Amino acid sequence: MFIAYEEFVRRADVVRAQIAAACATSGRDPATVELLAVTKTHPVTAADYAARYGLRGVGENRVQEAAEKRPVCAAPALRWELIGHLQSNKAKLAATHFDRVQSVDSDKLLNHLDRAAAELGKILPVLLQINAGRDPAKFGAELEEAPRLLELALTKKNLRIDGLMTIAPLGATPAEAADHAQRTFTQLRALRDELAARFQAPLRELSMGMSGDLAPAIAAGSTQVRVGSALYGAR
Ligand SMILES: *Cc1c(COP(=O)(O)O)cnc(C)c1O
Repeated sequence: MFIAYEEFVRRADVVRAQIAAACATSGRDPATVELLAVTKTHPVTAADYAARYGLRGVGENRVQEAAEKRPVCAAPALRWELIGHLQSNKAKLAATHFDRVQSVDSDKLLNHLDRAAAELGKILPVLLQINAGRDPAKFGAELEEAPRLLELALTKKNLRIDGLMTIAPLGATPAEAADHAQRTFTQLRALRDELAARFQAPLRELSMGMSGDLAPAIAAGSTQVRVGSALYGAR
């Protein structure tokens, strides 16, 4: 049995309070940090709850799963964002079913998504996923590759480059995880500032922070936290 809406509201209120507290600590306006509800593996009800609560978007990590849920979602205005790894042969499907793709980490994917968006007659917003924590277990472009990847991305007429996304490496202990998170998010923020200046591109969105590490992400400048388990329970 999936959680009741009242339970979701309790959890979402807690997450929003955490966001507000992290913003207060770093002197930021909570309105500058979006809460993206990560609904992967959960029934479409999870997306309906998010919309009813007033959230604007949901994150999914598989194209097929979102393609099945989105048509039966009760909230037509909800934004769907792809946050999981994308294979280039699924670029057309992703461009069809998502409002934004956050996991763009290669030339090949940029080429395929741009062509797919052109065929669909749309401009597809994307984020470049950067492996800012240098985690061998994570997808994402290496930090050194980022300038070249962005340079290519900015030539794509059917893509709009909104910013950067990253996932912090896991830690063996909470202290190690906190240290990784702090380093990773600071690194992504510095990279964004450097790229924005060098390419004269705003790169406004910094998608970083999840249920376990949203405070250090907000301290480093996150504009969107992607939260699953704190809203819906364990997967
Ligand atoms: C699953 C997932 C999340 C949400 O993780 P939680 O720990 O459940 O909050 C965020 N970002 C990405 C890329 C994910 O795959």
